[in-house]
Formats: sequence, structure tokens, C-alpha cells
Amino acid sequence: MAATCVVYEQCPECGIDVPIDVRFTTTERDGDALVVGMEPDLTDVMAHAWTHE
Ligand SMILES: [Zn+2]
Repeated sequence: MAATCVVYEQCPECGIDVPIDVRFTTTERDGDALVVGMEPDLTDVMAHAWTHE
């Protein structure tokens, strides 16, 4: 199962919400716990961080 979603991380420098694409890679059961693999795409975050350099 592969799904994606977008989360928003508030930039500490300017306060705007920077979108982060997150891909859920695997979902497994570990006893009663559900283990979800997450792969955040930090490209946009890095690009935004550079604007503050
Ligand atoms: Zn910022």
C-alpha cells in the first residue's frame, strides 16, 4: 500500500507553512501496534530554507 499526504511545517524564520510531501511506504502490524513507514520529501523545505540564507 502506498499513499501520500501533505503536511505543513511552520517555518521558524518567517512563520509561513511549508508543505512537505510525505509518502507512506509500508504498513505492518507489530502485535497491537501499527507500524507505518514514512518518507518525507524535504525538497520544498530545503528550498525554502535557502531563501533565508
Ligand atoms: Zn521561512
